[in-house]
Amino acid sequence: MSTDISCRNVTVAYDRHPAVHHLSGCFSAGSLTAVVGPNGAGKSTLLKAMAGMLPLAGGSIERGVLKQRDIAYLPQQASLDRAFPISVLELVLLGQWQHVGPFGGIGRRGIAAAREALGAVGLEDFEQRPLATLSGGQLQRALFARVLVQDARLILLDEPFNALDARTVSDLVALLHRWHGEARTVVAVLHDFDLVQNRFPEALYLARAPIAWGRTADVLTPQNQLRARQMAESWSDQAAICATDTAA
Ligand code: ADP
Ligand code: MG
Repeated sequence: MSTDISCRNVTVAYDRHPAVHHLSGCFSAGSLTAVVGPNGAGKSTLLKAMAGMLPLAGGSIERGVLKQRDIAYLPQQASLDRAFPISVLELVLLGQWQHVGPFGGIGRRGIAAAREALGAVGLEDFEQRPLATLSGGQLQRALFARVLVQDARLILLDEPFNALDARTVSDLVALLHRWHGEARTVVAVLHDFDLVQNRFPEALYLARAPIAWGRTADVLTPQNQLRARQMAESWSDQAAICATDTAA
């Protein structure tokens, strides 16, 4: 059974303005891929479309045998409401929602799995802590524990290491490699090129249109970086013209 994720000429648009276009290629089953590219390149948009949260304006994303419950998606940190009044354990238990459904109980096994996941991310003593009391790094560890209990075949992470201390990044990268070793398909949006070069076998360089996709060493070349920068400049042309008009 293939769990390759195949993109065929994918376009995703907001109000008919494409944020991702002409993307074709494959996240092969069990691959570990970094998605890189300038701000506004469509990286978050692509992940949301892969998670089934945004409709496509064109093309297709084939998910093979994967169902919605086989997909774990961790959005960019800013989109989480830290004030939500639940404990760390409850946050992790939410990861099992897709398996038990609204009328199923979590049960002792579910709680044991959540505790084990908290141990795996180094938060064994944090079960009862309200989310609002966690540091950024601790919160991200808890969110990774939630992904762990989801037991997903496809794991989508949007800038999972932003603004984290080096120790947390290193622990969480190790977890990501554990998932890779378990033949799960992992796709992560990242900005740290050194990290991508050292720890991610494959990369997709996106600047709304794809610049390159394949082995990381072939993707993160100076030529591709230059092309990405040129493409990003063309997005802001409109803004520059308007600013000049206003000044005149
Ligand atoms: P990245 O994650 O690479 O920084 P995004 O996918 O967030 O890029 O955004 C790509 C483009 O789509 C940007 O120009 C952004 O302003 C636009 N965009 C993102 N989300 C929305 C939205 N909900 N409505 C309208 N435009 C959006
Ligand atoms: Mg983004």
